[in-house]
Amino acid sequence: VGQKTAVKPKPRFLRVNTLKTTAESVIEELSKIHMVYKDDMVPDMLVLPPGTDLHSHPLVTNGKVFLQGKASCMVAVALNPKPGWKVIDACAAPGNKTVHLAALMNGEGSIIACELNKERAKTLQHTVRRSGANNIQTVNGDFLDIDSKDPSYAEVRAILLDPSCSGSGISTERLDYLLPSHSRDDQDDASTSSRVMKLSAFQKKALSHALSFPSVARVVYSTCSIHQAENEDVVNAVLPLATSLGFELATPFPQWHRRGLPIFEGSEHLLRTDPEDDLEGFFIALFVRKAANGGVEE
Ligand code: SAM
Repeated sequence: VGQKTAVKPKPRFLRVNTLKTTAESVIEELSKIHMVYKDDMVPDMLVLPPGTDLHSHPLVTNGKVFLQGKASCMVAVALNPKPGWKVIDACAAPGNKTVHLAALMNGEGSIIACELNKERAKTLQHTVRRSGANNIQTVNGDFLDIDSKDPSYAEVRAILLDPSCSGSGISTERLDYLLPSHSRDDQDDASTSSRVMKLSAFQKKALSHALSFPSVARVVYSTCSIHQAENEDVVNAVLPLATSLGFELATPFPQWHRRGLPIFEGSEHLLRTDPEDDLEGFFIALFVRKAANGGVEE
């Protein structure tokens, strides 16, 4: 009693920005001083020993690598946007996933990165500049105000929705950078649960909005929360709408062992990560719309 449980140190992850360099060339440079290997599941993800600090390394400052966790990188990979597609990143700042999308798309096609908060929209612009991507249009505004019926969004094929969440899956020291302070999960139980319920209501609204774009074939919903109310409950609440629009849940990273909490039929499609996996607590749901010919979009 009273003793602190030792926290197992987590490996450090970094994502190679393939718009500027290759995994091989980064490995060659880093292996001169660090032990480094490729992750076996997420492409262009490198793994370094716990405690490795690369914050001021030239590879980071010049945007050749991004210090981005493995769970966070699984989100854009799950969306799997193709070069040439039109894609929306609905809640984009600080922009780690936006620039990952650009890399996966080889810089081809276009990405609309929407961010409500003015200061955070500046951080987003900075991230975009550092990445070297030139197919990203940043928009400082409310995703819910984007009119899905506007002809300029008629060709949007994929949407990444990583909305404000409680951040309960993330270690506190990283929260300031990742989340607006008003959404932090560091208050007493009663105010936490009322805030989580408010976030959950917004998340449902934003996910329903993402599904309403006429040509969208893939929608990823993600959080860095461990709360069911922000994860499985959000997906479960929008499922009737999703089904009526022709979407079904698909299984991102089928080889991954930790799936959604079993609270509804189909929750095994959902993906969770957990500190027990040496990762932060993330949640990913992937909606895929059947193509008009009856096949499922690749
Ligand atoms: N995807 C980002 C990344 O990986 O770097 C992290 C996104 S963070 C979890 C959520 C962001 O959504 C915050 O910057 C917040 O200001 C923004 N946001 C909240 N409500 C929004 C809305 N209605 N429209 C657009 N952005 C919103």
